[in-house]
Amino acid sequence: MIILGSTGSIGVQALEVMARSPELSVVGLSCASQVGPLLEQAMAYGVDDVAVADSAAAESISALYPELGVRTGAGAAARLVREVEADLVLNAIVGFAGLEATLATLERGLPLALANKESLVSGGGLVAEIRRQNPVPILPVDSEHSALFQLLEGEERRAVRSLVLTASGGPFRGRSLDQLEDISPEEALAHPTWNMGAKITIDSATLMNKGLEVIEAHHLFGVDYDDIEVLIHPGSLVHSLVRLVDGALLAHLGHPDMRVPISHALHYPRRAEVAVPQLDLAEVGRLDFSRPDEEAFPALRLAREAGKAGEGATCVLNAANEVAVHAFLERRLPFLGIVRVVEEVLHQADKSPPQTYEQAVDLDLSARRLAENAVSRNGW
Ligand code: MG
Repeated sequence: MIILGSTGSIGVQALEVMARSPELSVVGLSCASQVGPLLEQAMAYGVDDVAVADSAAAESISALYPELGVRTGAGAAARLVREVEADLVLNAIVGFAGLEATLATLERGLPLALANKESLVSGGGLVAEIRRQNPVPILPVDSEHSALFQLLEGEERRAVRSLVLTASGGPFRGRSLDQLEDISPEEALAHPTWNMGAKITIDSATLMNKGLEVIEAHHLFGVDYDDIEVLIHPGSLVHSLVRLVDGALLAHLGHPDMRVPISHALHYPRRAEVAVPQLDLAEVGRLDFSRPDEEAFPALRLAREAGKAGEGATCVLNAANEVAVHAFLERRLPFLGIVRVVEEVLHQADKSPPQTYEQAVDLDLSARRLAENAVSRNGW
């Protein structure tokens, strides 16, 4: 397989899963700019082909390791997918940058283990178009969607009433809107349950992650937005549920550990052992659920509205959110400014659905420009 985004949280855990599994091997790795860790991985696993998006960061390695096939610059990860022989691609790139490699994987007809939900949020229509001509499997690596994928296996589409995505609620669950005003990046990065990267951790704190996941679920499973519910479940032991027409509610449970959905996607349709503790429900005792507070966390409503407005709107939503999260992490924007920026850009931007990858890039770029302006208006 090829692992894109191998130096990030999912990539590192995927290599861990792979190292314990005799049936898996890796032939290509990619990163944005963390060349040191990428080289260590390539040496440790005997990988000959890599891609580095940041050309400047990659300059040193071609000279030092002439035997390594190095692709650099924008589109490097997609070129790796097109040029290296593999049977599966794990896309764990962060953000819109992952879309091109998703499209390249599906165009080659390779199964895609997808951790880059932004591919579907920004390019869901493009992905659907390729899969209409060639129904290549997408194996979700997002824990909720992996759970839904497993629960839906063998169910007829008409038997499904709705999908229920669970959400931990993030570190600020239970706070009112005015208690969210002065949150620092450090507080927002202290996520209680899942071990994740910075972008997704902030998205979890605003609930935008769950908003993006609603859009992701719509594209993965072809379910209407009105039939995708969100349920707050702080323990993160129930990973999602499926409501069937006969009144049955199916749930997927386990310890919150990303190696489980990673292993599922990489071994599918088989199962492999993962070194996680067994979930002891007697010890857990009880499971808690509540409805999300959409007043304090309007990201969920915004994402749903964008989803219903179409694939142009969701591409804009994602671009504005990426810019706003980045500005928050750099202390240029207050916490509540993230969603304000997204909402303003959604009002201003052109939202025609992209018909090609180039149109998606243009739409993403123009939304980013609008978002930078909105950051200056809403910034400190
Ligand atoms: Mg998730």
